[in-house]
Parts: sequence; C-alpha cells; structure tokens
Amino acid sequence: MPSTIISTQNLTYSYNSTRAISDISFKLEKGDYLGIVGPNGSGKSTLVKNILGILTPLSGSIYLFGQPQNEFRQWEKIGYLPQKLSALNTHFPGSVSEITAMGLKKRKAHEIKNALDMMGIAHLASRLIGELSYGEQQRVMLARALVSQPDLLIFDEPTTALDPETRDIFYSLTEKLNRTNKTTIILVTHDIGIIGKYARRLLYMDKKVLFTGTFEEFCASSEMTGFFGSGSQHIICHQHNVLETIN
Ligand code: ADP
Ligand code: MG
Repeated sequence: MPSTIISTQNLTYSYNSTRAISDISFKLEKGDYLGIVGPNGSGKSTLVKNILGILTPLSGSIYLFGQPQNEFRQWEKIGYLPQKLSALNTHFPGSVSEITAMGLKKRKAHEIKNALDMMGIAHLASRLIGELSYGEQQRVMLARALVSQPDLLIFDEPTTALDPETRDIFYSLTEKLNRTNKTTIILVTHDIGIIGKYARRLLYMDKKVLFTGTFEEFCASSEMTGFFGSGSQHIICHQHNVLETIN
C-alpha cells in the first residue's frame, strides 16, 4: 500500500513583499525519487525550507508522513543537505567523525565508518572540519545526511562543489538507497541532465508548479516541449530511456 511521505496543498510563501512560491500542491509517496527543477530564483530552496519548517508558510498546508507539519516530531526520519553550508559553522571545533555522528541519535562507530567510506573521506576522520576544502566539507555533510539512513532524504543542489568522480559516486549512492532501502529522495537541481538520469518523478516549478508527474508523462507532454525546448526535453528523456533500458 503506498504511503504518502509529503503532501502540500496550495503552499504559498513570501519574503516580505516578494512572493517566492505560490499555490504549490504535490504529493510524494514512499520510495519515490523526485527531481525538483526550475531556473535560479524559482523558489526551489524556499519550497524545501517550508517543507522542513525552517520557513513558515504564508498559506496552504503541509503534511509529513501523514501528520500536519506542525504536529510532526520525527525529524530523525528526514535527512537534509542545505544548498548553502553556512548552517555549518566552519569554525566549529568538530572532527569529521564527530560531525558525521551528529546525524545519528546513538553514535555507532561502524555506521560512521561506513558513511565516511561511502563518501571516500575515511582518511579525513580525525581532521577538523574547518581545515577541509569546501568539496571535502560537502562530502562530510553528505555522510552526515546518509549515516542515519532516514526514510526521506532531501538534497538541495548537492553537487555544486563536488568533482565529477565524487558526484557520480554520490548519485549512485542515492540510487542504491532508493532502490534497495526504498528511501524516498528529493533532489533539487537546475541540472536537467542529472534529473533525467536518476529521478523518476519531476516537479518543474517557477514560483508555481509548471509540471508534476512521471517522466513518461513529462516526455509525452508537448506543453513541456514548449517550456524546455525540444533539445532539452530530448536530453532529459533520452537519459531516462537509457537508464530504463539498462535496468
Ligand atoms: P531557487 O532555490 O530556486 O534558486 P530560492 O528559493 O532561493 O530559489 O529563491 C526564490 C526567490 O526568493 C528569489 O527571488 C530569491 O531572491 C528570493 N529569496 C530567497 N531567499 C531570500 C531571503 N532570505 N530574503 C529575501 N528574498 C529571498
Ligand atoms: Mg536554491
């Protein structure tokens, strides 16, 4: 039986007088892999921050795991990687292991080791976070998001500072978690090629929802050809078809 992980109805948010998102309604079921796409400034991060309770909606409703968001308490079910790592004070005197362990309620050494191994940073375990490069810090934050094996993982433009090899490892990991653990995943990006390769559902937004549905629906939509141009739509749909053929 499908269970709904997130549902929003007519979600609207304004920064002072600037309307950032309007009337966003969508549903995410357990095991979905949703790509949220849209141009810069289209409200993707704002939507995610509303879902996570970092921002309070102007109007509309949000349900998390079947509960109204303001009654929801099981935040350990959700792993979140923010777009800006400013949340991470790089002067914080924590080692890589300690910061990764913050993703866990009970610290378990082998789980921390596994997460660091997955992100290829086991050799940095005892280093201070402030000493690392931005790309290394981002891998620590990915390890932290992965370590608690949450039911829902939300990545906001996760790979901007990653080298191509680490980026591939990261995306393969999300795919593995999604397929084997049925982890529900939201991947926010403006990289439409990546979305086509990994996500199975698409939410295309520009302040409001322009498209929400499966890739099959997206690829068959002439309205979306109009938005993206046939070239971009072809890239997205081609990548998706290739993946479906391999699996
Ligand atoms: P995206 O993640 O799609 O690039 P954002 O959600 O970050 O878009 O931003 C949506 C709109 O809200 C943009 O016009 C942005 O300038 C504005 N915005 C974002 N954060 C703030 C803020 N803290 N104060 C005022 N305006 C903001
Ligand atoms: Mg953003």
